[in-house]
Amino acid sequence: MARLELDDVRKVFTDDDGSDIVAVDDVSVDIADGEFLVLVGPSGCGKSTTLRMIAGLESVSGGDIRLGGRSIVNKKPQNRDIAMVFQSYALYPHMTTRQNMSFGLEESTDLSDEEIAERVENAADLLSIPELLDRKPGELSGGQQQRVALGRAIVREPEVFLMDEPLSNLDAKLRSQMRTELQRIQEDLDTTTVYVTHDQTEAMTMGDRIAVLDGGELQQAGTPLECYHRPANRFVAGFIGEPSMNFFDMDVEGDRLVGDRFEYALTDEQATAVANAGTVTLGIRPEDIAVTVGSEATADNEFPTVVDVVEPMGNENAVYLGFEADPTNPFVATVGGMRQLDADERVVARFPADAIHLFDGATGEALH
Ligand code: ATP
Repeated sequence: MARLELDDVRKVFTDDDGSDIVAVDDVSVDIADGEFLVLVGPSGCGKSTTLRMIAGLESVSGGDIRLGGRSIVNKKPQNRDIAMVFQSYALYPHMTTRQNMSFGLEESTDLSDEEIAERVENAADLLSIPELLDRKPGELSGGQQQRVALGRAIVREPEVFLMDEPLSNLDAKLRSQMRTELQRIQEDLDTTTVYVTHDQTEAMTMGDRIAVLDGGELQQAGTPLECYHRPANRFVAGFIGEPSMNFFDMDVEGDRLVGDRFEYALTDEQATAVANAGTVTLGIRPEDIAVTVGSEATADNEFPTVVDVVEPMGNENAVYLGFEADPTNPFVATVGGMRQLDADERVVARFPADAIHLFDGATGEALH
């Protein structure tokens, strides 16, 4: 069983002038056998350091990492039964695909030549590259080289795959193709996988679960849909989703939220949730805002606005809207691409009560 547990894992670096940098701050996450977990967060949040500690390329400053129930923090990288795939493919240029894939096995195992050849051929089939086995890296495209790098990890039949932004050197089309393929391969092999990316779209489409990091701290671990629908805090809410969630700072006045530009009528349940918060951040996703042409609000939580800019996004448009009373700081709504809206047009934006998110204004934590 390849259950991988991170238990209060911590990494502190010391910089040149002797002060501490807490790169990973007591992160705990439990990754089930066969699970595909994506570690996601902005640059510098501690993703690579976490992965490198699991691989054994970096020591831990605190906490424990267990694989199949046993601590691995004192094991050498080569004894951890873990294979890592990096952003750079790091293939040997003078070796063929077959040699690049078999080299590690020849060095570190006592498998027979036949067994090695069989593993290489099986991996090449899985990756749809059997015709490339006798070519050298210089004769391969970037996408093909990435497949060989994956093949080199697969032939080791490890308990865990670690992948650090493995698709970031590929162009957008190939990247989305490889995402699907990597998922298929991971499902076929059923190998516990931890995948690092800074790209929330990649995280949302690939992971069984995602773990969102910021400032070295775990913000939320959950399925992509949980993180999208029930973000634990304002950071996760803003990080997941494209375009990002809109946020408005509001004061609580009984069952109403009062802001600089609009007032919002809460449901009883929402009013109870915010009762003890001094201030609240109201969040709404662009795709949850209902937009109708017109200039009159006819109900609570409808706001007359003016179209500022329309940005085409394929089958949808991102429409930036300014409140009529104060058109500065527009917010963004997504509207089906068939609907033609023009700059300066008047539209009514509705923030449906069941679509808004409420966060404590001081701590950013979700108020449910
Ligand atoms: P990116 O997406 O940019 O690679 P990341 O989320 O993977 O970022 P890490 O590379 O894990 O982030 O870095 C986390 C923090 O630790 C950063 O502040 C980084 O500057 C710091 N850090 C990483 N490695 C070292 C090191 N060897 N010495 C000192 N500080 C380091």
